[in-house]
Amino acid sequence: MGYDAAYWRDGSDAALMRHARAEGRLILTRDHQLAGRRGVWAMLVAAETLDDQIEEVRAKLWGAPQPFSRCSECNGQLVDLSHADAQDLVPSYVWQTQSTFQRCPDCGRVYWKGTHWPALQARLR
Ligand SMILES: [Zn+2]
Repeated sequence: MGYDAAYWRDGSDAALMRHARAEGRLILTRDHQLAGRRGVWAMLVAAETLDDQIEEVRAKLWGAPQPFSRCSECNGQLVDLSHADAQDLVPSYVWQTQSTFQRCPDCGRVYWKGTHWPALQARLR
């Protein structure tokens, strides 16, 4: 959805809170205790299903989403990549059938509007 986001996999709640504070991040959590702690900027996500969670978070967050503007691997802000520059970076069939590409400047991953694109757009709508 284009939000600057980080995923916390390992480590203590205290480490997460320090990390979030240092980067000015809001913690999205389903952990009632974590969300209720003092000194933490957190939002409790109550919805059970992924689609409901997306809707809940989107309703509470500020700023319009910018879908498909960040790297799904590393959170980098995607930049446009010319068709010519994409030639050696994507499979031949993809290069021949796609006209627009984006690249993550942080990890180098290249994105295009593949067959999954319409389904993702519909889900976000
Ligand atoms: Zn990346």
